[in-house]
Amino acid sequence: MPEVVITCDWTMMSNHHGKEFLGFGTTSPAYVFPESVYQRLFFPRMPVDPNGFPQQAPYGMRKVEASLLDAGFDARIVHPSHLDRYMPGQAKVLLVSGHDYFGLNPPSSTFQGLIRKDPLNCVNFKRMLSQPHVLKAREQGMKLIAGGPCAWQLAPATQMKVPWIGEFVASIGGIDCVVEGEADQYVREVVRKALNDEFLPPHIVLTPKEAPKVEQISTIRYPSVNGLIEIGRGCCRGCSFCSVTTRPTRWYPLEKIEAELKVNEQIGIRKGLLHSDDVYFYGSPNVMPREDKLLPLLALAKRHYEQVGWSHVAVASLMTKPKLLSKCAEVLLDEKQSWWGVEVGVETGSPRLITAAMPGKVAPFKASQWPELVVQAAGLMNDNHVYPACTFIVGLPQETEDDVLKTIDLIDDLWDFKAILVPMFFVPLGHLKTKDWFRRDRVSKAQQELLKRALTHGLRQSKGLLEDFFDWEGAHTSAYRATFRGFIGFLEAVARINGLWSEPNGPVGRIQDPLLTPERLPIPTIPVRE
Ligand code: SF4
Repeated sequence: MPEVVITCDWTMMSNHHGKEFLGFGTTSPAYVFPESVYQRLFFPRMPVDPNGFPQQAPYGMRKVEASLLDAGFDARIVHPSHLDRYMPGQAKVLLVSGHDYFGLNPPSSTFQGLIRKDPLNCVNFKRMLSQPHVLKAREQGMKLIAGGPCAWQLAPATQMKVPWIGEFVASIGGIDCVVEGEADQYVREVVRKALNDEFLPPHIVLTPKEAPKVEQISTIRYPSVNGLIEIGRGCCRGCSFCSVTTRPTRWYPLEKIEAELKVNEQIGIRKGLLHSDDVYFYGSPNVMPREDKLLPLLALAKRHYEQVGWSHVAVASLMTKPKLLSKCAEVLLDEKQSWWGVEVGVETGSPRLITAAMPGKVAPFKASQWPELVVQAAGLMNDNHVYPACTFIVGLPQETEDDVLKTIDLIDDLWDFKAILVPMFFVPLGHLKTKDWFRRDRVSKAQQELLKRALTHGLRQSKGLLEDFFDWEGAHTSAYRATFRGFIGFLEAVARINGLWSEPNGPVGRIQDPLLTPERLPIPTIPVRE
């Protein structure tokens, strides 16, 4: 029985109905409906074994678990509803992870800023650490260590800057150590110190130079949520707002990838995501895709999974070798799979902003070609049955009103693009981490219009996407499809009633009232945390 317990909150310990994209639903607040409705829709409960060990767990946590097991520690991932089996008493160290502990990252911060209510991920993270048995174990000396992509949200500097986070941390007896960066190796040292009651630095930031080499990264021992497995880390495009770009690019060999595919396959997982910051680049040392590397990777994945998706791809990568995408489709699409999803960072429609904030994103093309590249990539993707989620950033420090108008023009050009457009408020990360957060009270009229246009596009397209999205077999499929269709219809009604429905060629800044004020929405007014 583990003396080192690893966990996360309930919104992350879920397979989101086998649809990773539905996990985005946990970044919104419980709006109008009670939280239980959102739990059914977006984060159904993960099955556990008699020890409270989850059948699948988030991939990053599986990596930490594997590293500790490889080093001989008695460590396991435990479902947040079963922590009471191990604490107080047995567990000496609790490691927590998360994508967005307090809803400060995009898109949670966007929803939180608009609806003025804590998002579900934040509510559940606080609830998880406030369980009586966790607090009791803390009183008895159990060490608490935080990591994961959003570790910065628990760093001492954030606690000082955002007082309510500091108050929450104090209420759970503090955090012994916060680790930022790729801690595959370093986590062993931190846990060893915690178990031996040695001094733990309150905040450790691992630099890109300390990033582990491929051979130092453990292979997962137990299955990951939705069969997600990593194929590499890092990105060389250098966008100023992104923390990934500071890390060196590393690709895993096929043998390492196959070992993890088999771990998932063993429990019957037959659908999975290949994860890297640009799957199209697999095996490439620069920004030119390598067909000789990518196609064998996809063929390998298809030997183990019936359906294979991609986590991310860049517009410029696709357009560098557009014909390669149809070859990928030939490998991936068959009688078991009719489409695949991916996240694409579009971020802006403005060539000027591309030059100012993300010049590498367009390489090897010119910034002036960006809007046209995006439109062509959209056609290319849909022609090959790729239905992406495209992110846009609102409120970059370098952004001007004209940049926003150009992004609206681009959204209009993408009106029939079968995709979900996801606008996100700027959050200071990467090279811009010293800048201010973009806040709701700074949303200009043009930015309002951009948000409304993206919302309208998303609601319009999501009705069609539902049919492809809910392709699983099973008795509940029609019920879930009908439920989601009803939910989309409800959101459309709210959008229309509140003047948030916006079709192309409408006047920018037409609505004079602030966007989504609490007075106009049928939800209780929640005190704003500034
Ligand atoms: S292309 Fe994507 S992953 Fe790479 S630096 Fe830019 S935002 Fe980050």
